[in-house]
Parts: sequence; structure tokens; C-alpha cells
Amino acid sequence: MNDIKTVDTIIHAQAIVTVNQANAILPLHSIIICAGKIRDILPTDDAQKQYQSSNTLDLSQHVLMPGLINAHGHAAMSLMRGFADDLPLMDWLNEHIWPAEAALVSSEFVYDGTELAIAEMIRSGTTCFSDMYFFPEAAAQCADKIGIRAQFTTPVFDFPSNWGTGPDDYLAKAQALIDQYKDNELIDIALGPHAPYTVSDEAMNAVKTMAETQGLAVHIHLHETTFEVETSKSDYGKRPIERLQALGLMNGNLQCVHMTTLNDDDIRIVADAGASIIHCPESNLKLASGMMPVQKCLDAGINVALGTDGAASNNGLNLFSEMRTAALLAKAVANDATAVDANTAIRMATINGAKALGLDKLTGSLEIGKAADFIAIDFSALDMQPIYHINSHIAYTHPADKVTHSWVNGKSLMSNRKLLGINEQDVIKRAQQWQKKLQQTQEQTV
Ligand SMILES: [Zn+2]
Repeated sequence: MNDIKTVDTIIHAQAIVTVNQANAILPLHSIIICAGKIRDILPTDDAQKQYQSSNTLDLSQHVLMPGLINAHGHAAMSLMRGFADDLPLMDWLNEHIWPAEAALVSSEFVYDGTELAIAEMIRSGTTCFSDMYFFPEAAAQCADKIGIRAQFTTPVFDFPSNWGTGPDDYLAKAQALIDQYKDNELIDIALGPHAPYTVSDEAMNAVKTMAETQGLAVHIHLHETTFEVETSKSDYGKRPIERLQALGLMNGNLQCVHMTTLNDDDIRIVADAGASIIHCPESNLKLASGMMPVQKCLDAGINVALGTDGAASNNGLNLFSEMRTAALLAKAVANDATAVDANTAIRMATINGAKALGLDKLTGSLEIGKAADFIAIDFSALDMQPIYHINSHIAYTHPADKVTHSWVNGKSLMSNRKLLGINEQDVIKRAQQWQKKLQQTQEQTV
């Protein structure tokens, strides 16, 4: 045959979980990668006849699926994993996290913490994440070096921080980042007003104007606790969702994180606006913030994605674990075992995340023409047997430690569980050095 096409990468797999519209799972199929994109998905027998590559992998005991999308987190906070546990949100923030951040957060802290987080995310199957933290320029530089896909939301607060003097300064720094990354294939910049209780109407209006004129996404912690909703009612005479609607921010570019305290009017407003919800069940459970009514929101037609939140309130960045928790919790909240089934949980962690970040034409499912962002999971282990339904194992056995390979835009980021482009020992060493510094700040405040 002289019409065999030479391509960049060929992977033969036991099965491919596409997460396409029909949730097709294709046994004994191969994926063909060329120039960072999925060139073809076809039966392995046909692939062997039609394509050749010097980079061909036979993963006959593996399942390929889209890389997971962690749609909300604070990557650098991985350096505060286990720093302060078992506290409600406002005590945790006011007495522990914010004082430690004021003492230590810097460009170096953010770079090192982000690299620790990205290493953990790749090893647990994530290929795209959204991040909101100080010094996003350092976090973006780290992600760019490693080659993972990411959205950086530049934080906006009313008050000064180690990163800036106030809303005008934060938005000026956001503009500089937007300009720097406008042609970057893997990095998007969005605006991150922190939360209704930390951002005034004036600053919200500035965010709205900038988002509208430049077509930017807006990412906000919203309805995280009942306390937040009650405070808004007394301060503004409106629930936070109503306030954002009145300010003109409730639209299809809004990414609403948490949303544990929702009434039927709130759900209708979000559904009508076409905004996305990013559900962070483990962080909400740990901080006892509340429980989001996932099935009710899905039934209303809202796009619901998943996030881990920062490792300081989780305490990890394992989106498979989040997928399982989301499915289990949704059943308990709805008092209905059919709520958030395995397929739905997988879609929340993949294509719904892509939709929330405005990236669904590019990533989130394995389809011809999309970016080659995907992972391989080893299904040969004892605790994966027998295999009746592949999606059941993905959703319910949290197989993060069985993710062996990872690709973003066709580039390999992990092979046989070895990270490429990250020196794991060096990342661990730097995390331990920051631990000592954080412990010193704790001793000083006691
Ligand atoms: Zn958060």
C-alpha cells in the first residue's frame, strides 16, 4: 500500500471514551494525532492499514478519555495543604489563610506552589485548569513552561494585597496579562472578582465594562455560604445573584463557583442567563459551606462543571475523587439514586468544564479536529476487575493513580507516570522550604 499516511502519534487502546454528544465508547480503537489535533479515531485494524508513525504506542490494557478539566482552584495554595483544617470558611480565611498570605505570598511563592499543583493535577488526569490567585503572571509563566492548558482569572478585591493596591491596579495588571497571552494557544486570561463580599459595586462595574469591551469571561465565588447571602441582603437589599444580575454581570460569560445556597428564583436567573456553575463538592463539604443542588440545576438546563478549589480546603487536586463525591453527594441531596449518573459525572469533569471556560469547540471531548488533550488509564489492575461498564469505573473508583499518560495539544506531559518537563524532586524540595517559612509565620502570630 502506498497511501499509508505518516502522522505524529498513533495510540492503539483497549477503548476510547469519547464524551461526544452520544457518549460513545469505542472498543479496540486508535487515536491519530497530527499537529496537536485529533486527525482520526478509528478501529485499530483500520488504523494499522491507514497510518504510520515513529511514535506509536500500544496501550491495549488502557482506556483513553478526554483530559479532566478542573474548572476552579487556587493552584499556589497547594503550599498551604493541611495548614489549617476543620474550620468554617470565614474563620479559616480571617485567622489563618489571609494572615499567612499577607506574610508570604510573592511571585516566587506562586510559581513554586503552581508547579506543585500542576504536577499533582497531571498525575491525577487533569489537562486543563482554571486558576484564581495573586501574581497570576507567575502562575501563567509556570503553566506555559510545562505546556498544560489553563485559564488564569486575575483577582479583583476592594482591598490591597501583596499583588496590588486595589481594583484599578488589579485591572491594569489584568490588561497587561491579556496583552501578553493574546496569541498563546494554551493560556486564556479572564477576570476574577473574588466574591460579592469582597468587591464593591464600583469595582464590579469596572469588571463588567472591561469584560464586555474585550469579550472576557468573569469567574467569581458566588453563594458559597448562607452567611454570604444574608450579608448581601442586609448590605445591598438583594441576594448576590440578584445583585450581579442588576449590575449586568449575569450572562453566558459568567462562571459561578460554589452556589450552595440557591432558591428556585436563583436557579431560574442563572439558567436564563446561560451562566455556568462550577461545583466544588469536597471544599464545600470540608468547610461545611453547604450542598449544591446539582440535579436541580442540571434539570433547569444549567451547565455544571467541577472544580477542586484550592488544596488548602480540599486537601488535594484529584478531579476523579471530585467526580465521585459530586455523584454521591448529588444523590443524597436529591434523595434520588438516579441523580448524577456515571455519564453525567464524567461530562461534568470534561466537556461541561470546557463549556464553562468557553473552550468546548477546542477541548473536553475526543472528536476529530479537536485539540489532542487526553489521558490513558490502566484498566488492568485487580481493583478494576471485572469491567462491565467502563464509565462506572471512571466515575466511581477514582482511578487517578492509574492515569499513566497525559497529552495536551498532542504533546506528552506524562509517560508511564513519569512527568516530562517537571523535576518532581525539585518541586518537593521547594514545597518543603515553603513549609518551614509558613510555620514560622504561624509561630509569630500565636
Ligand atoms: Zn475558591
